[in-house]
Amino acid sequence: MALIVHKYGGTSMGSTERIKNVAKRVAKWHDAGHQIVVVPSAMSGETNRIIGLAKEIMAQPDPRELDMIASTGEQVSVGLLAMALQAIGKQAVSYAGWQVAIKTDSSYTKARIASIDDVKVKADLDAGKIVIITGFQGVDEQGNITTLGRGGSDTSAVAVAAALKAQECLIYTDVDGVYTTDPRVVSDARRLNTVTFEEMLEMASLGSKVLQIRSVEFAGNYRMPTRVLSSLTDPLMPLEEEAKSGTLISFEEDTHMEQATITGIAFNRDEAKITVLGVPDRPGIAYQILGPVADANIEVDMIIQNQSVEGKTDFTFTVPRGEYQKAMEVLEGSVKAHIGAASIAGDSKVSKVSVVGVGMRSHVGIASQMFRTLSEEGINIQMISTSEIKISVLIDEKYMELAVRALHKAFGLENA
Ligand code: ADP
Ligand code: ASP
Ligand code: MG
Repeated sequence: MALIVHKYGGTSMGSTERIKNVAKRVAKWHDAGHQIVVVPSAMSGETNRIIGLAKEIMAQPDPRELDMIASTGEQVSVGLLAMALQAIGKQAVSYAGWQVAIKTDSSYTKARIASIDDVKVKADLDAGKIVIITGFQGVDEQGNITTLGRGGSDTSAVAVAAALKAQECLIYTDVDGVYTTDPRVVSDARRLNTVTFEEMLEMASLGSKVLQIRSVEFAGNYRMPTRVLSSLTDPLMPLEEEAKSGTLISFEEDTHMEQATITGIAFNRDEAKITVLGVPDRPGIAYQILGPVADANIEVDMIIQNQSVEGKTDFTFTVPRGEYQKAMEVLEGSVKAHIGAASIAGDSKVSKVSVVGVGMRSHVGIASQMFRTLSEEGINIQMISTSEIKISVLIDEKYMELAVRALHKAFGLENA
C-alpha cells in the first residue's frame, strides 16, 4: 500500500462525463489498496471565463478580488469529483485550500506555498477516505484566498505530495507524457520515457506549459517522483500498465548523456522586447533602467547591452508580453528623462525558442547547428541567451512554429 497523489488538469475534468471517468480511475487505484489524494484543476475554460468576467468590469482588476473568483473553478471541481466517487460507492471528501490549510504568501495571482498542514488529510486517509483538494489555491496568513499562477494546480499537487511524503505524484493530462516539443506544433514529436529534472525545469521555464515550473522545483527540492501521463485512456486499463506509462521525471543525471545531445525544444509566445536607445554608457546604467522595472514587479528575462559609440549605447531586454505596457509606462514615465535616453522602442510580437538538453555539456557545436538551421530558414535572431544545458533565441513571432519544426528536424528529435 502506498500514498499516491493524482492531479487532473482542466481537459481531464472538462465535463461531468470526464469527471466520472476520473472517479473510475481513482477508485481503481484505491481498490488496489493505495491511499489516494486527488488535486484537480477547474473544468477547462472555466478559469479563463471567470477572469474574463472580471475584465468586463475593469481592465486591471484588484488582484485580491481576482483570486477570490479565479479560485472558484477548482472548488466546483473538487465537489463534483467527490460526488462522482460517492456515486460509485467510495468514501470521498473535498477540501478547499484554506480548509487543509495550504498556506501561501500574499502575492495574489502568483502566490508561493509556504506550508501544508497534513493532519486532517492523514486522518481522512487513515479512515479509508479518498481526499480531494483544490489545485491552484491557497490562503495567506490573514486568511485571504490566493492563487498560484496559471497552471498552478501542478504545483499544488507536487507540493501536497511532498508534504504528505507520498510515494509518487501522477500528473494526468491531455497528452500521454512529456514530448520532445509540444505535439500540437510538431506532429511527429516523440514522447520521452524519462526526462531529467534539470531538463524539465528548463523546458518548463522556457515555455513548455505541460508542467508549471514551480511544480518541477518542488519535485526537485523534495525529490518527489513525478510522472506525466494521460487521463484520456480507458480508466479501467490495468493499473500496472498505467503506473509505468507516460514520462517520469528522473533525478539520475546520466540517463540521457549517451543518447542525445538535445532532449527537447521549448518555445514561448508570451514575450516582448524593449530597447532603450542612446543611453549614456556609464556605471549604474543597467541598474537605473532595470531597477524601476523590478520595483514594478516585472520579471526581466534576456538582456543585451550594445557596444558603446561615442559614449552612448543601446540597452535591450525582454519582459512577459502581459507586462509590456506596464514596463513601457515605467520607462517612459521617469526612467527615460532621468537617465537621459534618446528614445524607447518596443516590440510585442516576438517569441523565444530554446533547445534544451543535459547532453550539451559534453557536446560542442550545438549553438552553431542551431544558428545554421535558423539561417537556412531565413529567420533573423534578435537576441541569444545560453546556460549550461540550453540555448535560447528571440525571433519574430511569425517564424516561431517554422523555427521549432526546423530545429526539431535538424536535431533528429523525431527518431533519436
Ligand atoms: P492540464 O490542463 O492537464 O494542466 P496543460 O494544457 O496545462 O494541461 O498542459 C498540457 C499541454 O501542454 C498539452 O496539451 C500540450 O499541448 C502542451 N505542451 C507543451 N509542451 C509540451 C511538451 N514538451 N510535451 C507535452 N505537452 C506539451
Ligand atoms: N485552473 C487554473 C488555470 O487555468 C490552474 C490550473 O489549471 O492548473 O490556470
Ligand atoms: Mg496545466
